[in-house]
Amino acid sequence: MNRDGETGGLDEFGVIERYFAPKSEDSRVIVGVGDDAAVVEIRGATAVATDTLVSGVHFPAGLAGDAVGHRVLAVNLSDLAAMGAEPRWCTLALTLPDADHAWLEAFARGFFALAGEHGVELLGGDTTRGPLSVTLQVLGEVDRDRILTRGGASVGDDIHVTGTLGDAAGGLDLLSRSLSRAGAAHRALVSRFLAPTPRIAAGIALRGLASAAIDVSDGLLADLGHLCRASGQAADVDVDRLPVSPELRELFPARDAESWALTGGDDYELCFTAPPSRRRAIEQALAACETPVRRIGQLAEGRGVHCRRNGRPMAPPVTSGYSHFGESTAASATEPTHGGE
Ligand code: ADP
Ligand code: MG
Repeated sequence: MNRDGETGGLDEFGVIERYFAPKSEDSRVIVGVGDDAAVVEIRGATAVATDTLVSGVHFPAGLAGDAVGHRVLAVNLSDLAAMGAEPRWCTLALTLPDADHAWLEAFARGFFALAGEHGVELLGGDTTRGPLSVTLQVLGEVDRDRILTRGGASVGDDIHVTGTLGDAAGGLDLLSRSLSRAGAAHRALVSRFLAPTPRIAAGIALRGLASAAIDVSDGLLADLGHLCRASGQAADVDVDRLPVSPELRELFPARDAESWALTGGDDYELCFTAPPSRRRAIEQALAACETPVRRIGQLAEGRGVHCRRNGRPMAPPVTSGYSHFGESTAASATEPTHGGE
């Protein structure tokens, strides 16, 4: 426990009791929140992931509690989605500057709304005082013979992405300029950043179909680069085929939209590979869970991610003056390669 205990009239136990102690409905949770540790009955292969969001680093300082609550769960669920896992349980480590009830209530609302959608139960956690930071660990069930990893892709496999890319980067850009009278497109992009949708159903549908998968958190070029490295392949991306939303096209010049689709982070879509023989099966499986999918290129021999326009090699964009959370994922203009070293 934290040393200074008391926070704004409610000590940490009060905070836990009031906001983070739901009754478990899962018969496999033997001991839930409130004891020295939780106890669960795990039956098969289990995927475990954790992610930390630090205020001012991973989200703008001052972001509403419900957005932080949704986001910390969404980014972790996205990691499970990319493994083809079915989320079950989580633990939450919260560091709070004070017990701001309005903020905590909003945080819990955002968090439990998404948790309820995916049947994820909170098992326990830790609550301390300090600069705002939220760490979540999630556990999910996988089918041990059909785990999606970054490593199984082969030369000639198609590269697919779910949904649209670049929206969250556009949304964050809009958020940073507090425009009055924002229209529908503006709201749609901002909500892509504030409340990303983890592609859980798609990840499960892709079990046995995708040869490799990763979630797009740092930008397509960067994340596809990780997949290529893990699979020992290169990628050819056809930039004409990038899925860009009508909202992003409406509010930004085509060049910015394309550049964010390639390098913007925080979309939490899935990028995955599969042999061309599975195209139809993939379309059907993803249509069944209402997840749009687009084929954007193919794996090739070699290293790194190469971009093509109209079939001709092109240098990927350098994101001008914009860097997501301080870490630029922009590629060099002179070397049309990403992810190979
Ligand atoms: P300990 O000192 O043994 O680590 P804590 O005081 O940290 O115990 O936590 C008491 C109980 O409350 C534990 O069951 C812990 O899992 C749970 N808990 C603490 N913080 C949170 C939180 N933010 N969300 C959910 N459960 C929490
Ligand atoms: Mg503790």
